[in-house]
Amino acid sequence: MEFCKKCGGILVPKKTRTGVVFVCRNCGKKYNKGEYIKVTEKVQRENNIKIIEQKKENLPTTETQCPKCGNKEAFWWLQQTRGMDEPPTRFYKCTRCGHTWREYS
Ligand SMILES: [Zn+2]
Ligand SMILES: [Zn+2]
Repeated sequence: MEFCKKCGGILVPKKTRTGVVFVCRNCGKKYNKGEYIKVTEKVQRENNIKIIEQKKENLPTTETQCPKCGNKEAFWWLQQTRGMDEPPTRFYKCTRCGHTWREYS
């Protein structure tokens, strides 16, 4: 089974005049044979804070209170955690202790 590089959705083969293409069942992106990724490289769902933590770099900071150590400054970024039609969630990471939390609107 193959998965979409963009959203991690399942690809289904589709016959066209030029051959077989693989179409994402989730977002509709088309892939030519050999272009899609294999099951071992499956895109991880990114609602896991641990995964997001590994990617933060050169983030803007804002004045907000860390719930863990009380520090008044935190890095922040937006992350799409649910469906594409949902607004992105704002995450904070304390500049002092590194505690990461998300803002619930
Ligand atoms: Zn997709
Ligand atoms: Zn803190």
